[in-house]
Amino acid sequence: MPKYMTKQRKLLTEYLSGRTDESISANQIAEALSDKISKSAVYRNLADMEAEGKLRRVANKGGREVIYQYVDENVCRDCLHLSCKKCGKTYHMRAPLAQSLVENIQKNESFELDKGKTVLYGICKDCKE
Ligand SMILES: [Zn+2]
Ligand SMILES: [Zn+2]
Repeated sequence: MPKYMTKQRKLLTEYLSGRTDESISANQIAEALSDKISKSAVYRNLADMEAEGKLRRVANKGGREVIYQYVDENVCRDCLHLSCKKCGKTYHMRAPLAQSLVENIQKNESFELDKGKTVLYGICKDCKE
């Protein structure tokens, strides 16, 4: 599985892997790494990572920007994700709960949910208060 990783990709992965609970816009990422990677390279790499399933595209907080969330394969393999429409924070639904939801949908709707691509949107506890 180890694939050649460019220096740019490595920097991006390092930056994003510490932020699995956040949703970050492509612009924010480009800005944070602007002294190391050119903007066009950031965008190109993000598109590649999305295609490879390492990034999930989440709701866009009102603007036209593309918002991403990093998918940590170890943490995220079995969970579903809840995305807060207000603060953009991502919550990792506990695996047993996610699993029973997936099974129920499959059983009752004959629908096979793609967990990796599924994000449920709503308002989180912090934003509700
Ligand atoms: Zn997760
Ligand atoms: Zn929130």
